[in-house]
Amino acid sequence: MIACDRFTMGKLPRNTTRRQGEAAAAAPPRDPARIARLAELLAATWPDATCELDHRNAFELLVATILAAQSTDKLVNTVTPALFARWPDATALAAVDQAELEPMVHATGFFRMKAKHVLAMARALVERHGGEVPARMEDLVALPGVARKTANVVLGTCFGIADGVVVDTHVTRLSQRLGLTVHTDPVKIEQDLMAQLPRDQWISFANRLIWHGRRTCFARAPACDRCPLAPLCPAAQVPGHDAAAAPATPARAARAAKPAKPPKPAKPAKPAKTPKPAKPAKPAKPTVKPAGGAKKRGKS
Ligand code: SF4
Repeated sequence: MIACDRFTMGKLPRNTTRRQGEAAAAAPPRDPARIARLAELLAATWPDATCELDHRNAFELLVATILAAQSTDKLVNTVTPALFARWPDATALAAVDQAELEPMVHATGFFRMKAKHVLAMARALVERHGGEVPARMEDLVALPGVARKTANVVLGTCFGIADGVVVDTHVTRLSQRLGLTVHTDPVKIEQDLMAQLPRDQWISFANRLIWHGRRTCFARAPACDRCPLAPLCPAAQVPGHDAAAAPATPARAARAAKPAKPPKPAKPAKPAKTPKPAKPAKPAKPTVKPAGGAKKRGKS
């Protein structure tokens, strides 16, 4: 089993966001000098940035990364110690009943789906790879519940293999704000980053973007006033920042790429309503009862 030296998590707070919908997009301007400067600033700011999911080996990181979908590393780290103490490897986990695993991962959300994926993944590891985590992208993404992001996390963190760039919610948001992509689809964002970064920075750049997103470039209120990337950031919200002179943000690039909408044709005027014909008047009820049926009132 491959051992990883990363076990403890960072001490600073983090933040997560939901993904946005795919927007119409144009390719971002390629500026190797700017992205190199961004990488330098990130490296100076977060020199020790690494994966913050607690794990001791590739199997544990694979499970933890599956559980981290739509959740936070911090929360997953509260769940996994008990899980790995009980089922320490793929062989042990593969024999577990889903109903037994579900309560253990309940706190991470989507617990039924995650329990199902983790068990199927463990069984596939046993059946296809002798219980070991494979160190190839094509083998990893063939496992149930494992997509490129998870595979990149495991390959980069546990094997030191840069097959791609980890694109999570933070990398998505920061790549857009920094003008490195105009896409929201993780696969397209990964392609943009791979095209602009030297391969030996694929792992570290993503880790540093994730740390920056958790500690400075928050989803709702980015702390631009204390961000070292602000002079290079098209989305910086600081006094005196010349947004017009900065590289296009994804939103601006997408707007510029979209042809102007033709004006909507005026709606034809509705024909005037014809007045409803008046209802025929009801015949008046007789107010005087026939004399023969009338009762007399009072004492006789
Ligand atoms: S300047 Fe603001 S928006 Fe740009 S990376 Fe820094 S915190 Fe994020």
